[in-house]
Amino acid sequence: SNILIKIIENMGKNIIENKDYLTELDRAIGDADHGINMSKGFSAVDAKLDEMSGKDWGSILKTVAMTLISTVGGASGPLYGTAFLRASTVVDGKMEIDKEDIINMFEQAVEGIKMRGKSNKGDKTILDALIPAFEALKLAYEEGKDTKIAFKMAEEAALEGVEYTKDIIAKKGRASYLGERSIGHQDPGATSTYIMIKSINEVLE
Ligand code: ADP
Ligand code: MG
Ligand code: MG
Repeated sequence: SNILIKIIENMGKNIIENKDYLTELDRAIGDADHGINMSKGFSAVDAKLDEMSGKDWGSILKTVAMTLISTVGGASGPLYGTAFLRASTVVDGKMEIDKEDIINMFEQAVEGIKMRGKSNKGDKTILDALIPAFEALKLAYEEGKDTKIAFKMAEEAALEGVEYTKDIIAKKGRASYLGERSIGHQDPGATSTYIMIKSINEVLE
């Protein structure tokens, strides 16, 4: 669970470093606050890192979830919060985890967002990065790849997903109000998901 603390810390660092970038993306097709929302959430998570250290995976992920839900104002807070909360149930009480746990955590995160957001792949959201990442990770494990390589493949798939959001019409969230005018713009939430997955890799390296 020590590695999980490092991952969460790195996610926070990268989200905060990309605050302006994420906000600019949201300015084009939303209300220019995604970076602000996410940074606020991860700053609150950062403040709890000390109390999280030494706890089991489930407890840590649950704390992250509740903190994001209670501090992020936008749609992204409850969505990411639900993802972390659903992932936490898979690893409740565990101090160590295996590949199967990793797959199950990602699967629960995807299902949580689908349920909470009534969204799916192709809607120009978080899921356009998260679902390809999950599928790549699962496939890599099925092919016998180790965790480091599997996550590298997940990161590449997430980045392709982010690129793909430029070509599609937003079907969910504020960007959906723009209809066809959302085409040509990269989705902020898919981008923050990519940043978080990249953050996992930087710790694994
Ligand atoms: P808000 O839109 O409330 O200002 P944010 O700007 O923080 O919230 O987050 C916007 C991002 O949330 C979008 O770019 C999109 O990726 C994601 N999002 C919005 N609605 C949904 C949904 N129903 N399902 C999945 N993701 C969504
Ligand atoms: Mg916004
Ligand atoms: Mg907003």
